[in-house]
Formats: sequence, structure tokens, C-alpha cells
Amino acid sequence: MSSLRKVSDLDVAGKRVFVRVDFNVPQDSRGAITDDTRIRAALPTILHLVEQGARVVLGSHLGRPKGKTPNLTMLPIGERLAELLAPKVAEIKLCDEVVGDGVRKVVMDLRNGEVALLENLRWEPGEEKNDEALSKSLAALFEVYVNDAFGTAHRAHCSTAGMAKYFPSDRRGAGFLLLREVEFLSRLLHNVERPYVVVVGGAKVSDKISVLTNLAKVASSVLIGGAMANTFLAAQGKAMGKSKLEADKLTVAKQFLERCKKEQVEVILPFDLVVAPTVDSTEGRAVEVDAVPADEMALDIGPATAREFASRIKAAKTVFWNGPLGLFEKKPFSDGTFAVARAMAACEGTTVVGGGDSVAAVSEAGLDQNITHVSTGGGASLEFVEGQTLPGIAALTEPEAAR
Ligand code: ADP
Ligand code: MG
Repeated sequence: MSSLRKVSDLDVAGKRVFVRVDFNVPQDSRGAITDDTRIRAALPTILHLVEQGARVVLGSHLGRPKGKTPNLTMLPIGERLAELLAPKVAEIKLCDEVVGDGVRKVVMDLRNGEVALLENLRWEPGEEKNDEALSKSLAALFEVYVNDAFGTAHRAHCSTAGMAKYFPSDRRGAGFLLLREVEFLSRLLHNVERPYVVVVGGAKVSDKISVLTNLAKVASSVLIGGAMANTFLAAQGKAMGKSKLEADKLTVAKQFLERCKKEQVEVILPFDLVVAPTVDSTEGRAVEVDAVPADEMALDIGPATAREFASRIKAAKTVFWNGPLGLFEKKPFSDGTFAVARAMAACEGTTVVGGGDSVAAVSEAGLDQNITHVSTGGGASLEFVEGQTLPGIAALTEPEAAR
């Protein structure tokens, strides 16, 4: 990974630079951007290139269009970007397509320090197929390739992977956001400062078992909560009432626990739980893990478990957290998740949060600034900590192909 070239080590002055960004922002029904975090996250790379006098062309996907889908246009994103870059950048030149004569003209007419934005990359059917012809025609427009879209680095598409090989190794590199993600997420896998506490919650064992398995190889202790913990508790023979669990994952859960025991990795499952008759109940009550009523369900870790998790998190040198500890979207079942979020914020070690819903919980609690690294890539961060090689990262170091 150390072989990743930084955008700041590339010679970009006067060059046409393609930057794959992740501008896949949430929008309301009228197309207004409801959260511009992802746009802001790309600004350091864009501003660096502008200051170096590059001719910057940005490309991103937005949503899941089927061909040229007018309501999934980059126009509102271009407008927001223009506001964020003003007055350093006078305007964002908007292309109304991804490739073609119009795009070529915009790109070739750019002057040093100017910025253009391509239309939604997924308007081109070849993008998600990593179509070679599309990769080639995109690459042909540019002299330098930069990837700063960590959130899509786990996808092998033209813009995230296929294009990269058409640039010599000194003409392609990683943007600051992607580098930061790789730096912090790598710290969770190698030479980790101990005690190293891994907290995993969320909906399903099937989503998270690979993360658990890979991190258990390095963690000092693994704390498990959320609906996922129900499956582990059921695997230990506990009666879980009406709790959400995966009956077909009991063996997987049991094997994980046995392996951890053999390898002396401490695993802590909830020893008390907040239960209620339904997910719509307006209050819950704490019970011991052995006392889940047959007609109720576990919707959060209990207060004693939350205190234990919090004290371990605070004492750790490194913490990784993924997955809410309960049905945190509902107030009566959010205490465990917010207790973990606060403990993360209070911990003096390196703290990293990854995963869509866990990151949302941290922002809702207003604690983003107190966490060392809040990962912007949901699926990509999980695949990274699973130990997988992300195609978008691998593409930056693969051998060059003839244009
Ligand atoms: P992340 O996006 O952080 O990776 P997941 O998508 O795996 O997390 O899980 C988040 C979802 O799991 C949330 O919608 C949350 O309400 C739900 N959840 C967590 N614990 C429970 C539980 N005990 N019962 C029902 N749903 C739960
Ligand atoms: Mg999720």
C-alpha cells in the first residue's frame, strides 16, 4: 500500500487531470442536496490541483440510473461545488454527457486552474461493466488520473479501475481523501497499538462475519452487540424470544466463538438486553440475557453491558467500531449505540468508525470531531477491514497498458 502515489507527488501543472470523486450525495425528492459531506471531503484534492495549475475534470456517479436518467443529473452538485470553491474557482464547467464531442471540447478548451464536471458516469452503460472501450475513450482525454473516491474503491468500474492502467505510473495517483482512508484503515490491520478493541453490531451476522473473522486475528477483544448478537446468543443456547436473528447462521456464529476461544481472543456478548414486545413499542426494559420473554424481542444492549463496553473502549489504544448496538433509530432503543459513540469520543487512543448506519449515529450525536477517523466509505471500508484488495486501489499500481 505504501506504493500508492500521492496526488501531491504528481506533476500536474498545465495538464488535463481526471479526478474520480465520490459525489454520490443524498438528495430530497426535488433534487436538493440534503448532505454535502462527500462534496466537501473532495475539496482538498480539487483545491490542490487548482493551485498547481492543473486543468481539472471531475467525474462521479450519482445513484443508480438506467441510462441517461434526467433526475440523476450532476447539475445540482455542480452548483453546490461552485459555491464551495468560490472565489478560488470562478465557475464549474458542466458537461451534459460523460464522453463525446461536447465533453472533448470542454476538456480541450480548459485553461490552467479551471474545473469541469462530467455528467453522471453511470449514464454510460459501460461504466459499471468496466467496459474496455469506455475506459480507453475516457483515458484518451486526459494526461493524469487521480482517484479520490474511496466510497466506490470496492467497485471495478471504468472510472474507478479500468481507466487507470492507461496512464504511466508517474501520471496516476491517489487523492488526499483516499490516502487518509487507507492510512487509518490500514492502522486497524497491521502493527496495531494495543489494547485493540473491535466493536461490531448491526443487523446481520452474514454481513459482518468476514469483518469479525479478519479483525479477530489482530484484536485484543471483540465486543458484539446489535441484532447480530442475538444470533451469537442463540448459538450459545439462549432463548431469544421474538428477537431478530438468523437461524441459518448459528453454526457460523458458534464456529467463530470456538475459534476465538482457542486463539485466546476475548469475545464479549451482551449480558443484559433491552427488550420490548415489538419494534414499535414506545419503551423497553432491561433484562438479564437469560430472561428474554418468549413474546418479546431484544432491541438494544442493556445498561450494564453498555457500561462494560464503554469502559473497555475508553481504556483502549485503538478502537474500530462498525454497526449500531441496537435499533438506534428509535429513541427507547438508542442508549447502547450512543453510549458507545460517547465512549469512542472520550477514548484517547486511535478511534475509527466505519459503516453507513454507525457513521450516521456518530453524526447524530454530534461527535464526528472527537473521533480520529470517520470513514466516508460504507461498503468500501468494510471490505478493506475484511482484508480484501479494493480494485480502485489495486488499479493505481497495476502495470501500464498501451493506449
Ligand atoms: P452499518 O450500516 O453501520 O454497517 P448495519 O447496516 O449492519 O450497520 O445495521 C444497522 C441496522 O441494524 C440499523 O437499522 C439498526 O436499527 C439495526 N439493528 C441493530 N440492532 C438491532 C436489534 N437488536 N434489533 C433490530 N434491529 C437492529
Ligand atoms: Mg447499514
